[in-house]
Amino acid sequence: MSMVPIDPALVAQRVDQLRARVRAGAPDRQVRIVAVTKGFGPEAVVAASEAGLNLVGENYAQEVVAKAEVLHLDRPVEWHFLGRLQRNKVRSLAGLIDVWQSVDRRELVDEIARRSPGARVFIQANLSGESHKGGAALPEIADLVGHALSAGLMVEGLMGVGPDGPAEAARIGFRSLVALADQLGLPERSIGMTDDLEVALQEGSTMIRVGSGLFGPRPAR
Ligand SMILES: *Cc1c(COP(=O)(O)O)cnc(C)c1O
Repeated sequence: MSMVPIDPALVAQRVDQLRARVRAGAPDRQVRIVAVTKGFGPEAVVAASEAGLNLVGENYAQEVVAKAEVLHLDRPVEWHFLGRLQRNKVRSLAGLIDVWQSVDRRELVDEIARRSPGARVFIQANLSGESHKGGAALPEIADLVGHALSAGLMVEGLMGVGPDGPAEAARIGFRSLVALADQLGLPERSIGMTDDLEVALQEGSTMIRVGSGLFGPRPAR
């Protein structure tokens, strides 16, 4: 975890600005914000919580464990796991993660169902063809959703990450994800990050995941 300082007043100000962007982009509906605290210390979680955000996103198992150990929050937050997930990390995370957003293969479904029966999950779709970003190919998603449901997991929606590059390049993938979520009857569409959230909101995002837009540039890992 980094030593990049967090200024709680600045985070609160950015939360206000972010809420304004969300209202402008989706004036007719509620969109939830996941504060992505990866790369920052536990004080980022505290600042987000104090600014009124109660969903926190993390990408690395060791960071979740380290932060959970030291954090004593007045208000509980909901922890969302967003990163590439190795099967052997599920066990250490099972008591800590509330929502698993990066479920992209059957072995993960099976392990999460084993370690955290009935857990809330999103199935991650790969929207960019970039394998390092994880996610299942769109044609595999229906099968994975069915597998997760039959394993007893609560499948709340789909998650996707847009390609690198201009925000507009994310539109077609976001649109496909939303169409598929519609088709499968899944209410949540976790799409949109700091740089492409307007496009995601236009395409039907119900949940955006924002890191640098709240906490500033992330230190290199
Ligand atoms: C890092 C990350 C985010 C946040 O990205 P920003 O560009 O900092 O807003 C959102 N979703 C996932 C899956 C991530 O890995």
